[in-house]
Amino acid sequence: MSLIVLSMQVYLGDIIPTSTLDWPGKVVLTVFFRGCPFRCPYCANPQFLEPDSGEPTDTERVIAEIDKARNFIDGVVFSGGEPLMQFAAFKTIAAHAKGLGLLVGAQTNGAYPERIGKLVEESLLDAVLLDVKAPPVPEKYLHAVGVPGRKETSDSVYGSVRLCNRLRSEGKLAYYEVRTTVFTGFSDTPEEIGAIAAELACDAYVIQQGRPEIAMDESVRKLVAIPRNELSELARSVKSERIKAVKVRTREMGDEIVSQRS
Ligand code: SF4
Repeated sequence: MSLIVLSMQVYLGDIIPTSTLDWPGKVVLTVFFRGCPFRCPYCANPQFLEPDSGEPTDTERVIAEIDKARNFIDGVVFSGGEPLMQFAAFKTIAAHAKGLGLLVGAQTNGAYPERIGKLVEESLLDAVLLDVKAPPVPEKYLHAVGVPGRKETSDSVYGSVRLCNRLRSEGKLAYYEVRTTVFTGFSDTPEEIGAIAAELACDAYVIQQGRPEIAMDESVRKLVAIPRNELSELARSVKSERIKAVKVRTREMGDEIVSQRS
C-alpha cells in the first residue's frame, strides 16, 4: 500500500531523538509541539504554551528525524504543550510513523477527547499518556489548570478519561497511563487522589512529584517538592480493581511500583 502524507507547517518546541522516559518499556522519539489551552501555574514548559511563538517549521523536518531514528526506536511520542492542539500536523506525522511500522503515543492533557477518538478510529494512536490534574469537580479543575472562564474543562478531561477507559478495555489502545503531578495545594490529599483514581480503568496510575523550582508561577516556585515517602503514602491510599499498577515517579528514583494487580 502506498502512503501519501502531505507536509504542512507546525509550531515545534523540540525533538528528542531517543527517550526511554516517555513510554515505559519503549524507546521513542519524542516531539514537543507548541501551544496549550491551559495555563497551569506549575507548568514546567511555559516556553511551549503560545501556539505561534517562534517560527513555524515543516512537518517534513520531524519526518526526516523519524526516518533517521526508525531503526533504533519503537515509536514516536507527541508531547508539548498540548500536542493535539495542532491536530492536522499531528495526524500527518503520526501517519508517517505508522507507515513505517512504528507505534504512536500522545502525552495529552485530555482537553480534546473527540480528537483522541478520531486518531484511534483511524489507527493513528496506540498509547495515551493522560495528565489528570484534579478530581472531577469543575472549580478544582479550573484552579489546577489556571483558566477560570472555561467551565467545560473538567467535562472534557473526564470525557477523555472515560473514552480511554473504554478504548483500553476494548483493546483499541495498547497502553493507557494516567498521571497526576502533585504539588502542595494541588491534588495532594488522599481524598483528591482517591476521587481521581475512582474514575480510572488504566494500565498505570502514576503519582508524579511536582518540581516547584521550574514552575511557571512564582507562587508555586516558593513551594517545596513533596517528599517521596509522602507521595508513596498517597499512592498506597489508592484502592481500585480497575487500575493495573499504581506508581510513584520522582526525580531521584524514577518509577517505583507501589501496588500491582495480578
Ligand atoms: S502543565 Fe498545563 S499549561 Fe503546561 S503544558 Fe501541561 S497542560 Fe499545558
